[in-house]
Amino acid sequence: MTMRVCYRCGISEEEGGPLINGLCQVCFRKENPVLLLPSEINTELCQNCGSYKKRGVWIDPQNYELESLIFEVAENALLEALEESLDKVKEFEVVPWEELENINNIPVGKAFVGFIPVDYHIQYFPAVIVYRVRVKARLHELQLEPHDEIKETTVYVRQTVCPRCQRFLAGYYEAILQVRVEDREFTKEEREAVTKLVQEKVDEIMKKDRMGFIQDTIEKEEGIDFYMGSTSAARKLANVIREHFGGEISEAYELVGLDRMTSKEVYRTSVTVRLPKFRRGDIVEDRHGRIYKVENVSGKGMRLKNLETWESQHYDWKTIKREKIDKAEHEEKKALLISQTPREAQFMDMSTYETFEVLKPGVNLEEGQLYRLVKVKGRFYIKEKEGEE
Ligand SMILES: [Zn+2]
Ligand SMILES: [Zn+2]
Repeated sequence: MTMRVCYRCGISEEEGGPLINGLCQVCFRKENPVLLLPSEINTELCQNCGSYKKRGVWIDPQNYELESLIFEVAENALLEALEESLDKVKEFEVVPWEELENINNIPVGKAFVGFIPVDYHIQYFPAVIVYRVRVKARLHELQLEPHDEIKETTVYVRQTVCPRCQRFLAGYYEAILQVRVEDREFTKEEREAVTKLVQEKVDEIMKKDRMGFIQDTIEKEEGIDFYMGSTSAARKLANVIREHFGGEISEAYELVGLDRMTSKEVYRTSVTVRLPKFRRGDIVEDRHGRIYKVENVSGKGMRLKNLETWESQHYDWKTIKREKIDKAEHEEKKALLISQTPREAQFMDMSTYETFEVLKPGVNLEEGQLYRLVKVKGRFYIKEKEGEE
């Protein structure tokens, strides 16, 4: 019977075995290292927005505080380098550095990885972080002890400008979102509300559409123009505005030139949201002469309070069009309720002290209380109690 020995160091199987492919335990681990990390790793982040490439795609960072951002970018690069270098195992798991010490029971084909920064200079770019990386792994079922390797690698984080910011900084825009109003003044409050909504939503949109930035906002007499980095973001915002304020959306295309590469015509889209001419508090009239107060305007329609009955009802935009609902010419008046019968209310005009009767809505009113009335085509309607809307 011949004694089996390690072909590399000559140790007997009895002492250094069991042999794996002719190698003793130590030589097997030495001949098949797991951690083949490069000693230098280069990565970059956008100096304008802090984004960096993850698996080849630019993504926004989790951290915006510079020190945490640099470590986030460096660790991402380190993990990508690990993914590439740990190709002898089927899977690897990153664990806290301290935990690695006690991990010894490792399934074949698996690695556990830990890393810590051991030195860094991040006051200026390129930022330099030296990581100590430790890997424990098992490649073969005959292995008594797992691989346990430590290596140091230096990650260099440089500054660049991401493609999105390059375009943004060059003044690029793809679409114009125009917010207009139908047939009336665009009030300051509405402009502020629209702008606030757009700013809130654009942050959300940019999480999925990095080109969805606002290049510029231009206030005009007739409305607001938002210059947008992407047409789909302009469309999304137009829909959000319509959902909140109602209105109609239309699109137009303007030829802006030829693409030099493809010689195709390049168009710029303008997406226009036209806000409805009605606003909360407006007095409107339908084709039958019924008078309403607008209680609410939304993308779906309007809630109207019939001033004869004080019943509120939602009307969709189709019905509003069909019923030819439009603004009613009217006067407003404040008056004190002096007395009431089941059908009528007696008011006193607070400027002339004249009294007059008005048909009551189907509810009881409060005597001694001020009410707001509207007069349409010579007839008074009780709109609401003073101080209520
Ligand atoms: Zn050996
Ligand atoms: Zn950027």
